[in-house]
Amino acid sequence: MAERSHSYRTRAVILRRRKYSDADRILTVFTPRLGKRMLIAKGTRKTTSRKAGHLELFSHTNLLVAQARTWDIVTESETVEGFLQLRRDLDAISRAAYICELVDAFTAEDDEFEPLWDLLLLCLRELDAGSADMPESDLLLRWFELQLLGQMGFQPELFACLGCGEDLQPVENFLHLNAGGVFCPNCGRAMQGAEPINARTLKILRHLFRTRWDALRGLRIGPDTAQAVESVLQRYLTTTLERRLKSTDFIHRLRQTLPGRESGVAPSAKSAATDDSHGQPGPDPPYTGAKR
Ligand SMILES: [Zn+2]
Repeated sequence: MAERSHSYRTRAVILRRRKYSDADRILTVFTPRLGKRMLIAKGTRKTTSRKAGHLELFSHTNLLVAQARTWDIVTESETVEGFLQLRRDLDAISRAAYICELVDAFTAEDDEFEPLWDLLLLCLRELDAGSADMPESDLLLRWFELQLLGQMGFQPELFACLGCGEDLQPVENFLHLNAGGVFCPNCGRAMQGAEPINARTLKILRHLFRTRWDALRGLRIGPDTAQAVESVLQRYLTTTLERRLKSTDFIHRLRQTLPGRESGVAPSAKSAATDDSHGQPGPDPPYTGAKR
């Protein structure tokens, strides 16, 4: 029982898995209250492992994790949602992989961010609900991209001109990826790096940004507009990620490699005192470990 007092429970979605040694994998997981974490799953590469089935990519699991010096270690896992329907469909798998990659790319380790957890699960559930209907699952990805950008504070300006601040009118305006949004014709027409964006594309982008998914379901967009919206978002995401990688992630990585960084700290007295929640099953047990 000794090591259990240094353990914590968390729900997690497996974003990424990679081989660590013959039997072990390193998992990148996203959790509701601890943000993104890297964990070691021992023995999961052996086909006989009890844990193997519960640590599939994209699966929503309930983990018991032991704190360790470098990466914490998964000691128990149980599947909360396996998303089995999703796994039967290659398109759904690639969409889920894309969503998990973006969550991984936009988050740093240990940054707690519960709204993103909710967004991630909503999208995985939608893909699992088996919309084999292509336009709708493409729409889901576009909606996810805009919600993710908004949650992380990188939303493109789609409502007021970045130059003069006037409300954008339903005419051809000008998108500037590096500037982070749209300029009115007066400000954007002669601007280097600005490209025309038609009224329909801008309207759909705005609609996706400010509408809940349940109200969007069933929305049909023409193929040209869908293509234009996808192109804008793909390029905007790339531009944003390049900038982000140069700043926050780099700084975060630097901090982690600096000497004297605390790791494997013992849980606080408070968390040790509430540690008896381990034996209790439940969909959302309280986090009892120490935040590092
Ligand atoms: Zn303007």
